[in-house]
Amino acid sequence: MRGPWAHLLAKLACGALFIALVGPLGVTGCDGRPEVGHAAAPLAGWNLIVVVVDTLRADHLGYGGYRRATSPFLDRLAAQGVVFENAISNSSFTRESVAALLTGRLPSRSGSTGWHAVPPGNGPHLGALLHAAGYRTAFLANTLMLRAAGFTRGFDEVQHLPRRWDVSGAGPLLSRRAASFVRGARRPFLLYLHYLDPHAPYEPAPADLARVAETPPGPALDLYRDVLPRLASLLREGFGPGEARFEDLKARYDAEILGTDAALATLFDDLGTLGVLERTLVVVTADHGEEFLEHGFLDHGWTLHQESIRVPLLFWAPGILAPARVTELVSHVDVLPSLLSLLGVPMPKAGDATTDGLDGSSLFELGPPAVRPRVTERPQIAELLVAQRQVLRAVLLDDWKYVASWRWLDPEQRFEGQRAGAPPAAELRGPPRRESLYRLSEDPGETRDRLDEAPAVLARLREVLAAHLSASRAAGSLPSEPAPDAQAPDAQEAERLRALGYLE
Ligand SMILES: [Zn+2]
Repeated sequence: MRGPWAHLLAKLACGALFIALVGPLGVTGCDGRPEVGHAAAPLAGWNLIVVVVDTLRADHLGYGGYRRATSPFLDRLAAQGVVFENAISNSSFTRESVAALLTGRLPSRSGSTGWHAVPPGNGPHLGALLHAAGYRTAFLANTLMLRAAGFTRGFDEVQHLPRRWDVSGAGPLLSRRAASFVRGARRPFLLYLHYLDPHAPYEPAPADLARVAETPPGPALDLYRDVLPRLASLLREGFGPGEARFEDLKARYDAEILGTDAALATLFDDLGTLGVLERTLVVVTADHGEEFLEHGFLDHGWTLHQESIRVPLLFWAPGILAPARVTELVSHVDVLPSLLSLLGVPMPKAGDATTDGLDGSSLFELGPPAVRPRVTERPQIAELLVAQRQVLRAVLLDDWKYVASWRWLDPEQRFEGQRAGAPPAAELRGPPRRESLYRLSEDPGETRDRLDEAPAVLARLREVLAAHLSASRAAGSLPSEPAPDAQAPDAQEAERLRALGYLE
């Protein structure tokens, strides 16, 4: 490892100088460039890199307590940064989740819902806000899921690298493209990077698999081609935790995490060589997790159980953000307000017709004397509103989790249900058809429904959900009818689903 670590001392010195120079006067950063953003903000004029690793469970990272060493680089980054140990994505489906991350608004509030969820063309958006504040912006993604213009609003440069949906092993390419953008970019810059490799099919480099697997690899099963279409018969044969083929599948997923971790390490080396790490805030997260039969499902975008929504979230800016572990519950809608306040970019105002406020709040106290995490425990909401699959909303508060379902397909019904398309709109209105209540401190695996055991808690969480739905309705963003995309998949989507084994 050469880059970032060799640069840290310089960075620390720069941070101290920066505070001394800028303080209340602040006109230049420690490299003498003019500041962008509010001069009193601790990271005014800094670059920002947002790394999203698709399908990365928080509990499969070394620093997240996982039994395998899947993330040596991220472990070191986490030791130097602010780690939010209890962070959730606001959906378990890529498009809904990334839309919430970029806009700071929940799916129902922004209207970014369903299979073709896209952030609206106006309102708060990370790319648009930083572009307006003078940033040079790039959106580089290894997924084709985010091609709609709403995702890339405000980005000067946009690249969707793969030509296929199910490409694996493209992390190093994304890192090279990122370094090349930084090499040519004027400062400050915003770089959104979307890595994909932990997403199925799990096709790691053999060397990465050899590093995580305890036993020699078995015949590889492809999740989409070999497992999902014949899951029922595999389960009858004993496929599941402890069984060789299942454990091999999981080891391949872990090995893809290891490969992505290495691609990130390479990126940091290059950024260190380019000398930009001293003034770059890095945020690392995932759009959602992945299920391995904890509740009968594989893949993601099917439930809002913890394995699907608990994601890594860390902020790295040594010299300014002291290392910390935060246990309070936070979610992706808190990221945009945090970034805006750290960077000193004006926050959209609540009630403004064009911005309509944000659903989250900043996770940091700006000081003086120091920048510190500031998290007030408040309810967090996750939604999965893909009508041809599931329509679910979850409210989390303290250690309680309430899940309401308007459409629910059991694991055995998932293919048949999806093929049948979205249900009639009337089925998605009115009260939920099914509810569950879990106490995560005693039951982190969400195995025991306590719906009848805690009426006061249940009433409070239902109230939170009702307020969210009513605010969404008032904003005109609550889909009262399934959107056109919620019907049977269009031709392009059908082709993709077929390629991935979802459709025959
Ligand atoms: Zn995803």
